[in-house]
Amino acid sequence: MSTSDLPRDLHAVAVIGLGGMGAALARAFVAAGHETAVWNRTRSKVDELVEAGAHGYGSAAEAVASSRTTVICVSDYDTVKAILGDIDDFGGRSLINLTSGTSADADKLAEWSAARGARYLDGAILDEPSAIGADGASTVLYSGDRSSFQDDEGLLKALGSGATFLGTDPKQASLFDTVALTMGWSVLNGYLQSAALLRARGIDPQEAVATMVETTTMVAGWIPRYAAQLEDEQYDVLDSSIAGYHAAMGNVVREGDAAGVDVSIPSAWRSLAGRAVVAGDGDLGYGGMIEHFRRDGAGRGH
Ligand code: NAP
Repeated sequence: MSTSDLPRDLHAVAVIGLGGMGAALARAFVAAGHETAVWNRTRSKVDELVEAGAHGYGSAAEAVASSRTTVICVSDYDTVKAILGDIDDFGGRSLINLTSGTSADADKLAEWSAARGARYLDGAILDEPSAIGADGASTVLYSGDRSSFQDDEGLLKALGSGATFLGTDPKQASLFDTVALTMGWSVLNGYLQSAALLRARGIDPQEAVATMVETTTMVAGWIPRYAAQLEDEQYDVLDSSIAGYHAAMGNVVREGDAAGVDVSIPSAWRSLAGRAVVAGDGDLGYGGMIEHFRRDGAGRGH
């Protein structure tokens, strides 16, 4: 089944959920000239989109039936199922879920959708609502039904040029979302930890912004080298050995502790690296820590 089997007079897309993100998605579709149906639990948000040029519907089921493709973006996956639960047959329409969740959520919803005749595409939005739109480069990652992505790629470009299909496993977009969040929060928490230390010592964190950006950029540049090591499972020392970093982490923890800032995050890095040293992996390059991020990881030294 493809969208070409559906009646020709359907709207291009129905957007279900008009919160901060859903409204931005619907506005972007309207702005790109796509006929857009909308539904939201709170009616006032539907009225705002109708003023902007969308077609408002009184129920999610009606909005879905009116359109070739459905994009849903609400608080969580349980809410997705609750909203769409009355629809027994999607008739081969694409269901594109841009709600954030885990890969297990995505897998279950893919099964649930297939049982109701929907072609399921899971998506992860890596940008904020203000970045959504055809003029921007906002990134939305998709995985799941390939024909659904191919049929709707033009439509999805209305959300930003970075519409990327990762593969047919519906779990992949959520996993990449977790990767993006893990990387982002690691950098932001590193910044805030550093700024708290400087403030505690009476130094304006502004003075260190150049150092922070330079270090973050430098470390980002190391990732491909680490990735190559992980692939070969060869952990020669690149920037430092695990033991070398473990010792330096002790300085970070002591400096923060002495200044009276919370050191729970650097203490966690240090304890993980310490475990690797105890396991006999201290001489490996820092990439060897991958063995110790596995819950069952005994390391190379054992
Ligand atoms: P939001 O502003 O809080 O909107 C939540 C939406 O879910 C609203 O449309 C709300 O309807 C609806 N909803 C919640 N519970 C419901 C229920 N029981 N029945 C029916 N509708 C219900 O959230 P958002 O910022 O749009 O985020 C939506 C999704 O996008 C989340 O998964 C979020 O993680 C993801 N996301 C957001 C951003 C961002 O920067 N905002 C970025 C990337 C990804 P009402 O209007 O009636 O309350």
